[in-house]
Amino acid sequence: MPEPSTAIASPVPRRSSVSIIRASVLKFVGLLTGVFLLAGYLVLYLAHDLDRNEETESAFYTQKAVRALEKSIAATVKDYAFWGDAYKHLHTRIDTDWAYVRQNVGPTLYADFGFRGIFVVDAADHTAYSVVDGQLSSVDASTWLKHGLPDLLTQARAGAEAETPTTLFANIGGRPALVGAAAITPGTDPTVTPDDGPPSVLIFVDILGDDRLGTLGKDYGVDELRIATAAELNGPSVFVLGENGVAGSLHWNPPKPGERLLGLGLPLIGIAALLVCLMAWAILRRTTASARALDASYQSLQTSQSALAISEARFRDVVEASSDWIWEIDHAGRFTYLSERFESVTGLTRPEWLGAPMDQLLCTELGTVTQWLSIPNRRPDISVQCRYVDTQGQERITRLSARAMADQGFRGTATDVTEEVESRRRIEFLSQHDSLTGLPNRTRLREFLDGKLKTQPTAERPLVMLSLDLDRFKSVNDLLGHAAGDAVLNEISGRLANRVRHGDLVARIGGDEFVLILTDLKGQDEVEMLCQRLIESIESPIRIGEQEVFVGASIGIAMAPTDATEATELLRYADIALYEAKSGGRNTWRFYAGDMNSKIVERRRLESDLRFAIKHGELRLHFQPRFRIADGKMVGAEALVRWQHPERGLIPPDTFIPIAEETGLILALSNWVMETAFQYASSWPDQLFVSVNLSPSEFKRGSLVERVQRAVQQSRIEPGRVELEITENVMLDDAPGALEIMRTLKRLGIRIAMDDFGTGYSSLSYLRTFPFDGLKIDRSFLSRLTATEDDRPVIEAIVGLGHALSLTVTAEGIETPEHLELLRSVLCDEGQGYFLSRPLDMEGFSALIRVTETTGET
Ligand code: C2E
Ligand code: CA
Ligand code: CA
Repeated sequence: MPEPSTAIASPVPRRSSVSIIRASVLKFVGLLTGVFLLAGYLVLYLAHDLDRNEETESAFYTQKAVRALEKSIAATVKDYAFWGDAYKHLHTRIDTDWAYVRQNVGPTLYADFGFRGIFVVDAADHTAYSVVDGQLSSVDASTWLKHGLPDLLTQARAGAEAETPTTLFANIGGRPALVGAAAITPGTDPTVTPDDGPPSVLIFVDILGDDRLGTLGKDYGVDELRIATAAELNGPSVFVLGENGVAGSLHWNPPKPGERLLGLGLPLIGIAALLVCLMAWAILRRTTASARALDASYQSLQTSQSALAISEARFRDVVEASSDWIWEIDHAGRFTYLSERFESVTGLTRPEWLGAPMDQLLCTELGTVTQWLSIPNRRPDISVQCRYVDTQGQERITRLSARAMADQGFRGTATDVTEEVESRRRIEFLSQHDSLTGLPNRTRLREFLDGKLKTQPTAERPLVMLSLDLDRFKSVNDLLGHAAGDAVLNEISGRLANRVRHGDLVARIGGDEFVLILTDLKGQDEVEMLCQRLIESIESPIRIGEQEVFVGASIGIAMAPTDATEATELLRYADIALYEAKSGGRNTWRFYAGDMNSKIVERRRLESDLRFAIKHGELRLHFQPRFRIADGKMVGAEALVRWQHPERGLIPPDTFIPIAEETGLILALSNWVMETAFQYASSWPDQLFVSVNLSPSEFKRGSLVERVQRAVQQSRIEPGRVELEITENVMLDDAPGALEIMRTLKRLGIRIAMDDFGTGYSSLSYLRTFPFDGLKIDRSFLSRLTATEDDRPVIEAIVGLGHALSLTVTAEGIETPEHLELLRSVLCDEGQGYFLSRPLDMEGFSALIRVTETTGET
């Protein structure tokens, strides 16, 4: 199989066609806008420039016109002033007749040139001759020309020699006027001899009216040349007359070709822009529609491509992240692919194994892997457990799953389950054996006993059960400590095991209680001889360090089929016989005998007492709080029943629950427990739950669901706050029935915990199949800890498995701070035990809740 390509090109995000088209249309529109703006700007600029040029030109012509006017007045005044006759008739003496009447310097100047004032100022600066508006007059030149007159006279006389006239602009009566002046000289006339005094000055005044200016302007192509009004003074097209504008200013209308251009060009550009916009919009609409279609088809292409890339990446991630290794074999069963994990998990190298037959590496319990693979109709979802030997020579276990490939090969995963299998084996072993002595425990005993009883023992070949209890063991424990007690138990276990034959069983079922099952003893004598030997072997001294310890034993004997054919009965009878042996003086043995039935009588009494007790309120409930280990907060409490017997005092449940179970009183008892517990718990703070114990027999007798439901409804407790503790025996008896009931209970919202985990059978499979919420590790695990640290990994494994199955793991029997510390270190969720709190009566428990509520602590 080809390696999945290592660098999957991360898909470059593709821009949609719609967006590309939008963007380009936008760009295009932007460009056009730019072009139009530029055009607009150019038109504006051009217009402005045209106008400015016109302005400058018209100003130039205006100036030219004014200068021409000046020249003309200067020429005229020159003609009249540098003239011998004028000298004779206007300087030497004022000859009005010559000047005015004969019209030499008189009205014609007004009529022809429009000079409204003609003055002659004599050598003494007196106005000697004046003609105003063509009429002879006596107006003084200084009334018209004011302060400008002396300067004018000086300049005119200065020009006498060179015959240059002078001109100036003056304001006369609020109107601008052009004044021309020249000294009167004989000119080229040889007949006249000039005198020595200052010459007289001839002055022509041309007052500029709008008519005259208009005509003047027209001559020079300046439109409407006129005197500027005050408002026009600050604008353009102004020509200033005289120094600092004393004479006033001219104004004209320059042509405005730019304005015309604007009036025409701008609307045209606007219309063009509008048209282009409309076109762009139409194009955008059409192209967007087709781009959408394009995008949609690309999208679907992309989706399929990226799905492929994702699944490839996912496959690679899974292959690399998973602790499993992945394999493929061809039709001949040879490896064609091994994932990298193969090396780190197995320690073997890939090149060495690629091409090698799979069967050479792995074998299943039943045969070769290829045999398993070729099972007809093999279900692909079922895996097989295989073994192989790793590089260190250690056997490892792996779970193989496989699927057929098209080319007759197979591919699949291999999960290393060595640790899991190991820890399960250990748990299973521990669940059936006593960890201190290694002897089978009560569970194994029951199994063994049931097995033996099934083979139907006869009177000739009876099944013998010895119930053996050590004497004086308690004092060893008390005086020498638990370690010594453990050593004694170990020693005695060894001695007992040595005294029985292969195929018999020695079980330790309690602190110092043992049960032996023997099958090939014939008759009472042989049994008695064995008992004798057992007691002797136990009595022989045991060395504990420097000390010698002496213990003894009592034995009770029951036999099948003579005494009973049922395991429980047999155990009970052997117990009764043991009781007799103990009261018979210890270090002895007793066979069960019918008269020992007094015990049974006794039991019957207890039975009827119990019936009475349930009815008349002699039962009590104690509550043992359960705490969250991580923060020490109380999370709930387990209800534990007691019997307040009028004569015998408070009886523990172990004494009467079995009786209740056997007689069927358990239903009434359990109803009372549930009703009372739920009722009471409904008054607790909401976060606290209550758990009650159920007997396996309650599952058998139907109506459990209804009973629980009724108790929940009566108390109005929130079902989520109710937990039921059940033991594995429930599932042993009728697994499908139990599953059905548990599922129904779960639908009501009730929680279910497996109680006493670790004492029963192969609990794992039950945990997996049944809908448990929690798991309570039996207190025996913790109590063993004090002696040896052996169980720590087992507790850890149980917690781990519990978590793997999403169960809340609770440890029971926390008796020391060390226990608590250990549980905390293995991340156990919850715990209960004497160290945290003993079971409390209702008063005590209510007080605890009050304290917890007020202090907020536990
Ligand atoms: P269990 O369900 O395993 O209950 C826990 C037992 O362990 C209680 O004994 C409790 O007092 C005891 N215990 C708690 N902490 C410690 C500790 O730190 N060290 C030690 N050595 N023991 C501790 P209890 O109350 O005598 O109950 C014995 C058994 O009787 C219970 O075992 C349960 O199986 C049964 N039982 C109690 N109440 C009921 C009931 O209402 N209905 C049924 N069906 N069975 C009940
Ligand atoms: Ca319990
Ligand atoms: Ca328990």
